Amino acid sequence: MMQPVNFGIDLGTTNSLIAKHDGNKVIVFKNPIGQKETLASVVAFRPDRTLVGDKAREYLKKDPINVFGNFKRKMGSDEKFYVVNIDDNVTPVQLSAMVLKELKNFIHTGENPEACVITIPASFDTMQSNATMNAGKDAGFKEIFLLQEPIAASLAFFNESPVDMKKDGYWLVYDFGGGTFDAALVLANDHELKVVDHKGNNFLGGADLDFAIVEKIITPEIIRQTGIRNFEEELRTKHGKYEKLFYEMLYYAEEAKKELSHSPSTTIDFSVELDNKYYDFTIPLTREKASEIFLPIINETVKLVKDLLESNRLQPHDINQIILVGGSTFVPQVREQLISQIGIPLNHSSDPTISIAAGAAYYAANKYYEASPERSSEDAEKIAGEILSQINLDEPDLKIETSYNRSSRDKEEVLLIFCEGAYENKYFRIIRNDGGFDTGYVPLKAKKTEFLPLLPSVSNLFTLSVYDDNYEELRSLSQEIAITQGQYSIGGQPLPHDISVEVDDLENQTTRLEVIFERNSLLPQKRTLYREISKTIKKGSGDSLIINILEGDKNSKPSSNLTIGCIEITGKDLATDLVKGSDIEIQLHINDSRVLETSVFLVMTQQEFRNVFSISEKQIHIERLREQFQSLENELADTIRKFQHNNDDMWEIKASALMEELQSVKDRLFKLKPNDKSDEKYIIAEKIMQVSQAADKLGGNERLSLLVESYYETKEKVMSAISTCDFEKSELLKKVQKIEQTEESFIRSKNAS
Ligand code: ADP
Ligand code: MG
Repeated sequence: MMQPVNFGIDLGTTNSLIAKHDGNKVIVFKNPIGQKETLASVVAFRPDRTLVGDKAREYLKKDPINVFGNFKRKMGSDEKFYVVNIDDNVTPVQLSAMVLKELKNFIHTGENPEACVITIPASFDTMQSNATMNAGKDAGFKEIFLLQEPIAASLAFFNESPVDMKKDGYWLVYDFGGGTFDAALVLANDHELKVVDHKGNNFLGGADLDFAIVEKIITPEIIRQTGIRNFEEELRTKHGKYEKLFYEMLYYAEEAKKELSHSPSTTIDFSVELDNKYYDFTIPLTREKASEIFLPIINETVKLVKDLLESNRLQPHDINQIILVGGSTFVPQVREQLISQIGIPLNHSSDPTISIAAGAAYYAANKYYEASPERSSEDAEKIAGEILSQINLDEPDLKIETSYNRSSRDKEEVLLIFCEGAYENKYFRIIRNDGGFDTGYVPLKAKKTEFLPLLPSVSNLFTLSVYDDNYEELRSLSQEIAITQGQYSIGGQPLPHDISVEVDDLENQTTRLEVIFERNSLLPQKRTLYREISKTIKKGSGDSLIINILEGDKNSKPSSNLTIGCIEITGKDLATDLVKGSDIEIQLHINDSRVLETSVFLVMTQQEFRNVFSISEKQIHIERLREQFQSLENELADTIRKFQHNNDDMWEIKASALMEELQSVKDRLFKLKPNDKSDEKYIIAEKIMQVSQAADKLGGNERLSLLVESYYETKEKVMSAISTCDFEKSELLKKVQKIEQTEESFIRSKNAS
């Protein structure tokens, strides 16, 4: 039996929440301890027990090396954390699973959900999404659906705010949380929401504001008062002598930051023993001073919002409002900068802390999963009966079609049923899946109407079954009917990055990307690729056929993309030799939750391989990152020289700006120690990847504008040719109109092909 998932979880970097849609409204569960809705995403390992949540966060001050937070930022990576108290390693996935399990304890309705929706930042890559899925499984969920956070935030906003507030048109979701930043452009149209585009940074959040306070305010003061040399370097070292102090400082920094959201100044007070001497620190911090050091970080978010508007050719006045989400939007400077630099009115009607969880619950109410049957002997009999009726002859000469509105604002909807073929002496029956409605057995007719009563504000799922004259079900004819009542719903989740395969580019002796799934296409997606084998693989040999799958920007080099995994078939799997040039068929499928499934068919050996895709873990080695930095630096310098040589001012300015952006991480990258415990290497890697992708596009727009121009010219020619032709005129016009409908999206895609 299909059942709505109903449970939604915001698995945040800093705070996590769980909510449920009870059929009418959303309930956000409270922690039985402390009665708060949020659970700090922190795990503490004490020698005798493990703590999850706020208690764990408090323990940070006592024993920081056994306490872990911010691990969402490391999801999908190969990083492990060593826990002294249990003398073992834990992974970000395991830590996340512990948070999820703790959230289950919030549920006071006695339910133990088998399925849930878990939110992820819109810009999470496939590896990060996959790690989140695994955390859900580790926490005991049988079915997990991932939902992008800006979609969750929009669902909460549109389903909960007053009618006069929500206009159709463009909205901007600005989600500035503890560890991640997402800006999403949302289009509302007649109760349907669509995320048109988004920009984000998985390593930009409130934690960076805390780091800035530690780095720019507390550390200099400590150095000034103690005169300790190497203090800064030592502070950041994993298991270094000031490690405990570092975490304490972060804790105080965060508290001070929050304090400054409602008072103009605060002091950071603490005493500490440093190199056998006691010190008392009282460090004053004003909102003004904090604003100054926050500005570069806030500007990063502003830049992404501007980019988002620009790449969608929108002006601030085209956007209704900015919907504020995430704890860091409490920072006054964030709001001030958005107003002064972007100029779109802000909307704070949603609670920035709970809206993602609430939105996840709205989504979950409309998401169905196959609940596990509770097996009893009665059930077993029923199943046996079902198998019998399955064998029953299906009627191939009966066709049934239905027509209805998939979303409704009424209390009931009309369903039209059309039959073709041998429908006499047969019946249909429609049951609403919650059991609240049943038509009973109704004789089929060529045309029939039924009124289906709808439960308010949820997706109503009905099953239409067909029976023969002995009331035996003709199972091949049954179908599901889903109608959403009164709610804003989402028209699918967009893919955040292009997913491509790496193919040989023999002419240039390199490799290039061939896109499989395009950014912003709505999930799920399916593609079949046909390839030729580029080298012979002998049966039984250790050689293998490897196809790399990458995520990023399809118009850039493979090295500017992230390798998310590969398809591999080795000689040992082969039934016969696989000869160079023989054909291979690759099917790829990506679902709503970004799970990538592949199957490969080798024409020559007639073998089919399923699930041959193995996902990677992100590995970032500082040495490799430095090499990557240097080659990008050289390449950019070359490019700038070329633009200078050609007096190409506009491109020179763009390239120099990228160079400047790249240089902004140089110092940090070359100072970085292999045992650095901060998130620095991920932050830098993300930056280098972004600059690299942008650098690959330099100079490219000229070509695109020429192409766009020639497209319009050709279209004009075609139209005038059609107007003079005297046969098939309307067919030809239809064809042109079909192209025209997608015109905007392919021009915006900036893809030359
Ligand atoms: P996440 O989604 O990453 O779990 P949240 O949306 O819960 O994060 O936001 C957490 C971040 O918001 C933290 O960095 C926290 O310090 C910050 N934050 C929470 N409340 C305030 C406040 N009143 N003023 C400033 N920052 C705040
Ligand atoms: Mg969040």
